[in-house]
Amino acid sequence: MSQQIIIALGSNLHREYNIIRALSQLRRDPRWRVLAVSPIYRTPAVGVLGPQPDYFNAAVLVETDLSPEALYRALREIEARLGRVRTADKFAPRTIDLDIVLFKDRQLDLNGFPIPDPDIFHYPHLAFPLADIAPHWTVPGASLTLKQIADALRPSAKEIQSMSEANVLARINAFSHYGTDQIFEAEEDEVYDPEFESLIRQILIRIGEDPDREGLRRTPLRVAKAYDFLTSGYATTVEEVVNNAIFTDGCDEMVIVRDIEFYSMCEHHMIPFFGRVHVGYLPQGKVIGLSKIARIVDVFARRLQIQERMTNQIADAMMEILEPMGVGVVVEASHLCMMMRGVQKQNSSTITSAMRGLFRKDARTRSEFMNLIRDR
Ligand code: ZN
Repeated sequence: MSQQIIIALGSNLHREYNIIRALSQLRRDPRWRVLAVSPIYRTPAVGVLGPQPDYFNAAVLVETDLSPEALYRALREIEARLGRVRTADKFAPRTIDLDIVLFKDRQLDLNGFPIPDPDIFHYPHLAFPLADIAPHWTVPGASLTLKQIADALRPSAKEIQSMSEANVLARINAFSHYGTDQIFEAEEDEVYDPEFESLIRQILIRIGEDPDREGLRRTPLRVAKAYDFLTSGYATTVEEVVNNAIFTDGCDEMVIVRDIEFYSMCEHHMIPFFGRVHVGYLPQGKVIGLSKIARIVDVFARRLQIQERMTNQIADAMMEILEPMGVGVVVEASHLCMMMRGVQKQNSSTITSAMRGLFRKDARTRSEFMNLIRDR
């Protein structure tokens, strides 16, 4: 049964690039037909602690025979291709969000999210593009049209500007320094890093493969890009990711961010290890935006690492930038280099910790932290 559905797009990381790529992937996908695409809106981030880049938002009207669940999964696949990593921090900058926000004449619950998305009524970055592509649709369960909802929000939305796709493409050409991270796809005739690619080609030959067979032809290029991304921590610093997002605050309660997802590669085998990081600190006048802690983790995770060193580096970086009373870092990780060789039982994980200041000296502080990260 064919249905019309609106998908909302949002990006605030390499946003020109990612919003254009997402639109082009949506247009090319045979599983649906794109009927309309909104202009692209530039909007300040909402609900965020600390400064964050503005978002680019848009909406697309599609027609499809897919079930809602199948469409949801298809959009997650596209997000993954565009480098979206979902972390515990829901406000972390993202390469792309693709959300189903509205089904024509239909209300449903999709994996715990109500559709229509109630945010349509509150946020101009959603309401405006929706009104552009389907002004006369009535939101199921409400008596208003999308145009009426958008018009009601206009007086409070002075900071929003709209751009055409052509404007956004022009911006990409103007800022041609786009980082190579997040870009895993190989375009036709793309040249990336011939020297590195030839090394990967040699590895393919060495393991007995034919680098010229169909499936492998662009593998060296993809691997080169993937390595650039997976080791992008070498090209960033803590100072750069923190970027002045430190605030003065009288708060002296323990701050904890737990379950920060990370992916790293062991320096012994260059094989992934991954898991979760829990970070706690006792502020002494300075606090940091929570999403920045996840980015600090990435600075150290996206390198060749050993888990113990990464744990210590995160703790030392927190001590240095915040000068808190103390810091605790606990890392739980699974190491593929052990799991794949059967050295480690499949479900076991390695736990490391680094305690600084009061977290080291004061047993009560340490146990408060350990209890809080375990309490789930
Ligand atoms: Zn290893």
